[in-house]
Amino acid sequence: MAPNLSATAPTGVLFEDDSLTSQQEIMPPKEATKPLRKGSKKIVWRNVLLFIYLHIAAFYGAWLALTSAKLLTSLFAYVLYVMGGLGITAGAHRLWAHKSYKAKWPLRVLLMLFNTLAFQNSIWEWSRDHRVHHKFSETDADPHNAKNGFFFAHVGWLLVKKHPDVIAKGKQISLDDLEKDKVVAFQRKYYLILMPIVCFIIPTMIPVYLWGETWSNAWYVATLFRYCWTLNITWLVNSAAHFYGAKPYDKSINPAENLMVAVGALGEGWHNYHHVFPWDYKTAELGNYGTNWTTLFIDMMAKIGWAYDMKTVSPKVIMQRVNRTGDGTHIMPSQYGKLFEHMGDHSHEGDLWGWGDKDMKEEDKETAMVINKSSDSDKDD
Ligand SMILES: [Zn+2]
Ligand SMILES: [Zn+2]
Repeated sequence: MAPNLSATAPTGVLFEDDSLTSQQEIMPPKEATKPLRKGSKKIVWRNVLLFIYLHIAAFYGAWLALTSAKLLTSLFAYVLYVMGGLGITAGAHRLWAHKSYKAKWPLRVLLMLFNTLAFQNSIWEWSRDHRVHHKFSETDADPHNAKNGFFFAHVGWLLVKKHPDVIAKGKQISLDDLEKDKVVAFQRKYYLILMPIVCFIIPTMIPVYLWGETWSNAWYVATLFRYCWTLNITWLVNSAAHFYGAKPYDKSINPAENLMVAVGALGEGWHNYHHVFPWDYKTAELGNYGTNWTTLFIDMMAKIGWAYDMKTVSPKVIMQRVNRTGDGTHIMPSQYGKLFEHMGDHSHEGDLWGWGDKDMKEEDKETAMVINKSSDSDKDD
């Protein structure tokens, strides 16, 4: 592909000055100046050892689940995986990193606890890294830049020191909203107390005291296997969903629609769509609950009034983007009819981290559909 910097070409980056970084043919010289694979990555050995222990222990936990643990313990581990998963998907990801909907304080507290159960660092840190991932996707500033390979995008990025660009660009991202959120601030302040209790101690004690499980089975199955499983499923969004799948919305980017990841990660595998429209609370075009449990959860929370102002993209804007930059694999949802076959596209060109990004176009806001709209949409409680 020849460099194409015309105004209509999707650059995948925000600033035109940076646009060269997204052109594959420009990548070699950029990498050559910072040879990521040639010893410049500082390995964090403490993390390497911890992750090796965790994975060996998790395999042992899987063995125990099949051979000696009570069925109730395995079911409990499964429930914890869904709860921790929602703490990442509905919490850190869709609520806090992307602002794709709003939540009343009881839901924010619940999601904060679920999030702590998943132990993927504090919501504040997770959201900052994730905004950088979207805004500078697949450049050196992307914390888990998939251009460094599957392993790096999956877990390798956690085993080495951050690339300087990640830190530099991270400082440019607005985090005011997160700093104002008292629930996020509370978790961040007490993280080193909350996390061991919620992720490790309580999940181990419950099977022992409630149904007489052995300490060993509780520790390896409900705690370490479950934790390691949740981690790997989350990481698949950064690895597999950046490598394998169709690109119906934008063929110029690597994030792809991956059903397997969507099912495992509670609806986060529709990743081509998500990188094009990161502020859609469904992270997918359609709210298919079977492959998107997180949307089911948010919609249920909306029914009791705890979730509101859920933003989603109008079918018209989606089809405009599909027609302009899609790879031709898009299947027109039957309910759209033939309304949107030939039209120009006015949707956003560069990358956004989500709703409220300063680079978000006014017309994107105006055409957005807001579900369960609050009467006072400025009130962020
Ligand atoms: Zn991604
Ligand atoms: Zn995202």
